[in-house]
Amino acid sequence: MPRDTPLLRYLQALHADLAAIDGGAVADYIPALASADPGTFGISIVTVNGTKYSVGDSDHAFTIQSVSKPFVYGMALTDRGVDDVRHRVGVEPTGDAFNSIRVDEESNRPFNPLVNTGAIVTTGLVRGDTEAAQWQRIVDGFESFTGRTLEVDEVVYASEAATGDRNRAIAYLMRNLGMLEGDPETILRLYFRQCSLLVTTDDLAVAAATLASGGRNPITGRRALDERLNEHILSVMQTCGMYDAAGAWAVDVGFPSKSGVSGAVVGVLPGQAGIAVYSPPLDGCGNSLRGIEVCRRLAGDFGLHPHRDRGHPAGVVRGAYRGGEARSTQTRTAAEYACIEAHGDDLTVVEVQGLVRFAEAEFLVGFVVDDPTRSRVVVLDGHRALLVDDHLLPMFAELADLLTAAGRTLVLAGFDAPGIPSGFDRLAMSFAQVDDAIEWWEDAVLATHFTGVGADVARPVTEQELLHGLAGDDLDAVLGALTYGALEPGAHLAREGKPADAVFFLLAGQVSVRLGTSLAPGSARVAAFGGGVAVGELALLEGGVRSASLVADTRVEFATLTVEDFTRISGERPTVRAVVMGNLARSLALRLRRANDRIRVLDR
Ligand code: GLN
Repeated sequence: MPRDTPLLRYLQALHADLAAIDGGAVADYIPALASADPGTFGISIVTVNGTKYSVGDSDHAFTIQSVSKPFVYGMALTDRGVDDVRHRVGVEPTGDAFNSIRVDEESNRPFNPLVNTGAIVTTGLVRGDTEAAQWQRIVDGFESFTGRTLEVDEVVYASEAATGDRNRAIAYLMRNLGMLEGDPETILRLYFRQCSLLVTTDDLAVAAATLASGGRNPITGRRALDERLNEHILSVMQTCGMYDAAGAWAVDVGFPSKSGVSGAVVGVLPGQAGIAVYSPPLDGCGNSLRGIEVCRRLAGDFGLHPHRDRGHPAGVVRGAYRGGEARSTQTRTAAEYACIEAHGDDLTVVEVQGLVRFAEAEFLVGFVVDDPTRSRVVVLDGHRALLVDDHLLPMFAELADLLTAAGRTLVLAGFDAPGIPSGFDRLAMSFAQVDDAIEWWEDAVLATHFTGVGADVARPVTEQELLHGLAGDDLDAVLGALTYGALEPGAHLAREGKPADAVFFLLAGQVSVRLGTSLAPGSARVAAFGGGVAVGELALLEGGVRSASLVADTRVEFATLTVEDFTRISGERPTVRAVVMGNLARSLALRLRRANDRIRVLDR
């Protein structure tokens, strides 16, 4: 059962509507095609995400005919290279019928690979030492586009081979003009077989969606064609795909497409979807009447003309915030936070989202350069970026240079989507996650500006914020209950799910809070704590079990106060409980405020 969605319902209604179109004529110049049922009508759409929509006779198999031409052109380009192929087949639209015998008089070249003169030459260019090898190459090529095994309609093949005198004439003329190498009969057999491959609209929609996905089949995930050659094919389809109707098509519909005499039309919406229609009755130009109407209606109803204005480059910047507004997950002492926040304008984080193409890159670069704060450090947070066009690497390299010349630093963080070109993260200092970049900046600010005791120096336990305000015998009672310990990097201070029966005062080194059992660097790190800070302190409030693990990132020195001892001391000295709980409440309140700041920043 297909998924019931608005698009499926739309296609069902469209199919019902256009099934009423009468007229046109089923091609009969290949005798076996004349028996096609004019009422057969299928529509399929496959999105670049691989979602398929099929209505009507979408699994009816028919011969691919001229829709094969752009795909075989892609194979020839792959096998011979663009220059070699261009030498023998041009890329100019003709305004002629598909079987026109006219060639470019100056060069003797066929005008383009989508009319028969060019298509027959193109088929001859596909690699293979023998006819069988060439044929295997063609079949494999198609199957990489359809993702399904294909067969030949032997009846249609035999019918065209027996009657295709015009194509035979074309092949011999092409050899006479020096455009076709090898035996014309062999190449004609390959060409007729290629035209007789059996496909459905579901197959052709997958093939078209592959062209819409830069040459990568969205169902199999495998590349069928080099990305640059894919563009090349789409350009030729755009100008030459609809034979002599190409001009009107370009205005009314606009997206690259290809039709064939069996009644198929495929359309490609680059970056969006592939469309395939089958309905045998043809108009005077040899294009499927209903096929054309489906494309016209889709183009009009969904605004699919490729020249529509779709630019919203400002959307590339999701938001920006300063170093004073969002802390890293590295927890600091109150004095350190005060220092970081006082230098907040030293850092700007720009959140980048979606596709970064020419206009978006221009906007993003302008946003950074024009930012009146002129932060010394600018972090581009790319974890919501889906794509950076690889042609724009020099623009970002220039941005890095420009900032450096102004005494500023560009930092990249979180650019790891499949659409990010390799080498992008080498244009500037880069981090796996924006949190790492912010922490790096905070450390740099503290190293330069913090006048208190640094995190690398062990702090006396009496400096712990949780113990502030305790004095005399009260303080001594607590200090007397402490036990001291040390851990090597990677060791657990506490484990998720185990009883929460103690609070740890960190004296030196760093501990991180992690969810799950993985110890991989950066994995599920929720927060990190350094010397002077207490961890696991919620044990004093609720006991129960640990909700996360505490892992030593470096060598850690710490003091432990068990809940049992704390409860005992509190029983003897009620002020200890009051002071410690007051401190705990204050520290939680501060942490909550920072968490809220962060949510506000990330949410806007
Ligand atoms: N096999 C057909 C031919 O060359 C293909 C033509 C087409 O689909 N327009 O005549």
